[in-house]
Amino acid sequence: MRLYRAQFGFVNLDSANPCQIEAPRSERRCPAQSGQGEEERFGEGAASPNSQKQIARDRNPEEIASIKLAALCPCPLDLAWHDNRTSFFSCRKSRLKIHLRLHRLFAKAPSPVLEAVVGYAVKGDKRSGTVVRQMAHLYFSKEKAKPDPLEEKGEVYDLGEIRDRIKERYFPTVDVSIGWSARSRAKAFRCITFGSYDRHRNQVRINPLLDNADVPLFFLEFIVYHEMLHAVCPASIDARGAVRCHTPEFRRMEKQFAEYGQAKEWEKKSLQFFRRAHGRS
Ligand SMILES: [Zn+2]
Repeated sequence: MRLYRAQFGFVNLDSANPCQIEAPRSERRCPAQSGQGEEERFGEGAASPNSQKQIARDRNPEEIASIKLAALCPCPLDLAWHDNRTSFFSCRKSRLKIHLRLHRLFAKAPSPVLEAVVGYAVKGDKRSGTVVRQMAHLYFSKEKAKPDPLEEKGEVYDLGEIRDRIKERYFPTVDVSIGWSARSRAKAFRCITFGSYDRHRNQVRINPLLDNADVPLFFLEFIVYHEMLHAVCPASIDARGAVRCHTPEFRRMEKQFAEYGQAKEWEKKSLQFFRRAHGRS
């Protein structure tokens, strides 16, 4: 839960910087222009249909997707695959090339998604951007990873105990791991992320700023409740392709927290509280 600004951890298309570039005509290999179908792009030279299938089987998904993307792209493509969830798509253009860094999730994406990846990289086309985002959202919602090894016990509060109380009272069937996140080096306090829910790891992380005897227990419990609620309420994608974590249903259920009013009141004052506590006014 971030004060003043909602966030969805791993959806980050900010680094994409689409702009139109022109490649020399001789270098254009867009299949739409050459009239070739997708299958033809796999078959080069005199290979038989069976040997084409064998070649496709011998290649790993990244290799196959790289070939498809290069064939779809109207100019030379410099492609790198990675596992970084925070920026699953980034694109930079030089005079003759598109430099694309892409999360491995796209290696097994169906052809319409790969077309969208190229469409977004080349033209910054909004509809393609939506497809790319939706693909990432679907992938990360399903993929599960081990939770990070985080400390539950703080100097003042024990998050494991708080999680168990909230679970017993509100979410008897929900199992999440929980822990204190790393201390932020940010000093400005323009906004504070009190907690987050990592769907990928099924893990709640709480800002260690809240491990403070002057922070009321009901507020910390509210933050834990809010993050656990994310495990119950699925995020949805709106018509513009933006991921909505705080849906109307989420907001309705959030109000069922017993000390909701008190917690929201404290939240309003919290920024000033932490600024004062850290010697800023
Ligand atoms: Zn939230």
